[in-house]
Amino acid sequence: MSFADLGLSDELLKAVTDSGYTEPTPIQAGAIPSVLMMRDIIGIAQTGTGKTASFVLPMIDILAHGRSRARMPRSLILEPTRELAAQVAENFEKYGVNSNLSMALLIGGVSMGDQLAALEKGVDVLIATPGRLMDLFGRGKIMLNGCSMLVIDEADRMLDMGFIPDIEEICTKLPKQRQTLLFSATMPPPIKKLADKFLTNPKTIEV
Ligand code: AMP
Repeated sequence: MSFADLGLSDELLKAVTDSGYTEPTPIQAGAIPSVLMMRDIIGIAQTGTGKTASFVLPMIDILAHGRSRARMPRSLILEPTRELAAQVAENFEKYGVNSNLSMALLIGGVSMGDQLAALEKGVDVLIATPGRLMDLFGRGKIMLNGCSMLVIDEADRMLDMGFIPDIEEICTKLPKQRQTLLFSATMPPPIKKLADKFLTNPKTIEV
């Protein structure tokens, strides 16, 4: 399997080559074609398997080729920690350098000023930890009803950190008609329950 077989656009294939990747990892080969076909996905994969690119690459292609609703975020990526959120943001910038898509990194522990300014300007993608996202949403600073793509990353760590109630609440604020991707290293019962509740006919990829 090569990257060229996955259905990504030429721009994204170039971003992949520029990153020095020669072939997709198993989670990438399993997930990318289905994400591009707008399927919901459960990816059972640890950090280090290349799972970030498995959702960031097709997300960029979908957003770059979709119709843009002005000033409204169209994708939300939830991460359990600031560090992981920042890493995903770096990946998004690296792969999306030619895409004209904008993003806001919404994490705690830093002042809200830059985040609010980015939101005011309008962004395509939100990369967030649940606490800061709920805080900004509660202040009326974020519209989530245009987010038709949701990634719940590291779901089992979210569970360990007590974020599941926040995630459930966030899910109810997104459109029902959406694509949801859930990644987790393990699938304990509360994560299975979450997936049953918020994903539709998901394809499971276990690596
Ligand atoms: P992740 O599991 O997303 O944290 O990725 C782990 C590391 O693998 C990161 O440093 C990526 O840049 C790298 N990586 C992702 N996809 C590939 C690939 N197809 N070939 C080689 N390295 C990759």
